[in-house]
Amino acid sequence: MNTPLQKLLENCYDDLLGDLSGKVADYIPELSKSDPKRFGISLTTLDGHIYDIGDSQFPFTIQSISKAFVFSMALENLGSNHVESVIGVEPSGEAFNAIRLTADNRPFNPMVNAGAIACTGLIVATEGKKAFDKIHETLSRFAGRKLGVDEEVYRSESLTGDRNRAIAWLLRNYSRLPENVDLVLDVYFKQCSILVTSHDLSVMAATLANSGINPVTGEQIISPYVVARTLSVMTSSGMYDYAGQWLYKVGMPAKSGVGGGIIASLPATLGLGTYSPNLDSYGNSVRGIRVCEKISSYLNLHVLSQKTDIKTCILADYGLSGISSRRSRRHEEVNILQDHHDEVRIIELIGALTFATMDYVSRAVITSSANLKYLILDLRRVSGITDAAKILLNSLQNDVEHNGIYIIFSGRTISSDDLNHIASKNTLLKNLNFRILDEAIEWVEDDIIKRYAELLNPNELVSLSEQFLLAGFTDKEIETISGLCIERNYKSGEQILFAGDSSKSFYFLLLGKVSVRLRSGIRLSSLSAGMSFGEMALLENLRSADVWADTDVRCLELTLHAYNNFTKAFPECGEKLMKNGALLLSQRLRMANAKVDILSSSN
Ligand code: GLN
Repeated sequence: MNTPLQKLLENCYDDLLGDLSGKVADYIPELSKSDPKRFGISLTTLDGHIYDIGDSQFPFTIQSISKAFVFSMALENLGSNHVESVIGVEPSGEAFNAIRLTADNRPFNPMVNAGAIACTGLIVATEGKKAFDKIHETLSRFAGRKLGVDEEVYRSESLTGDRNRAIAWLLRNYSRLPENVDLVLDVYFKQCSILVTSHDLSVMAATLANSGINPVTGEQIISPYVVARTLSVMTSSGMYDYAGQWLYKVGMPAKSGVGGGIIASLPATLGLGTYSPNLDSYGNSVRGIRVCEKISSYLNLHVLSQKTDIKTCILADYGLSGISSRRSRRHEEVNILQDHHDEVRIIELIGALTFATMDYVSRAVITSSANLKYLILDLRRVSGITDAAKILLNSLQNDVEHNGIYIIFSGRTISSDDLNHIASKNTLLKNLNFRILDEAIEWVEDDIIKRYAELLNPNELVSLSEQFLLAGFTDKEIETISGLCIERNYKSGEQILFAGDSSKSFYFLLLGKVSVRLRSGIRLSSLSAGMSFGEMALLENLRSADVWADTDVRCLELTLHAYNNFTKAFPECGEKLMKNGALLLSQRLRMANAKVDILSSSN
């Protein structure tokens, strides 16, 4: 079975296969030998999947497409100030090989021959004789494989490229080229003769679409800053004096070459590479342009017609009313938490945090109740955070903390370095990060309890009479039970119960904390002193989960055997205990239901 995109590309290929309009470049004699019937389309996705149709593995010379990559190399190695002092970034409105400079004698932009030769000059000025090898190596990294060179085309252009020689000497006249003009021209002719396929071009284009990271090899070739500058000049000048129409119709940064190749690079989406040697009067591949037009209009990929629904970024927005972490707590603690539920706000976010979504979230946050003390932002489902979103988030964090509110992150680590690096350097906020939302909620609960209940000492021994399961028992009944229990002590980190074991007893926790976990390590609940565990033994024969000591633990074990004898003597106690157990289960169910409700109600 083919994917929808594969089918779309195949249809596009079939539709255009018979279109042999235009003609192959012949001003470089060797190029006139190209076969006009050759036709290849490739598309690389940002997870590195490559769709190839037709002659996608057929090698041809990269020609002017090299200009985009050598420009990015110059920006990366020499910095934008230096490069911009030599080469402009304005569209020229003229043919690629025009012998014309701006009023201050700079080439119009790096996509026309004058600008590209000046760009190669910058590389030669720093790398000397190694310049070509450096360019060759960089272009190969963009493609993810060692590219070849077409020596025939190189010689052919070298023998006939007098127009480029004229341009180069004009540049030298204005000191825009280093002294060794012949070497610059030689490197330029050679870089144009590097061999690529449409397959390679699509990977190179996808690297630009992917913030400079080759999506196949994973290597960062150039910085996001340089990518944005390179794509900018591709947008305004990549298709020469067809650039305006191209942007209007196709709307993707692109670059063509007289060898018959075109790259189109849609940021954060895809890279396209096409090969078809027949050119139009601008020197752009006829079928290549049509392929890009078709794909762009069919899928509405125009870079300026992107839309998004920012409100979907908030998946759920709730407080602590009816909700708690998986830690079971004594009822005094539960009461404190319910009294202060409006001090907590939990916002679960989803998708990409961008300028627009982060602004929406921050407007939601500032409408919080005056009692707010803890703001938890759960980022587990956040796929990425743009720089603009980081700047807004950092500022929100400053404001929120300035108002005495904790901002707590879960599901994704936000380091203060991250935020402060982007935003102001002098704010040094310590971030509260938790691996999962439940841990963040538990931390908040602990903090609230600490603030409001100095009375509740966590190291205090909780007697049997205060056990939830034994609520309503008389002193005499407690005393009898106490006599039947065996004291057990466990060290922090020790496993107490094992899932799958037969359940012959249950436990009352007197001191410390335990957690109930699935084999996978997922925590089902945490229990503090006053709670029982293993009580499912009253209903089931086998233990359904592991129980671990989170701290040093003291508990009382009551075997089912002893319990059964006890209820024979005190039948109403069996009933009371079962009722308490049922209450516990119903509380847990109520909590689970509240959570389901929050996550399934649309906002
Ligand atoms: N090597 C070719 C030249 O300098 C590149 C031109 C192009 O691809 N448009 O003329």
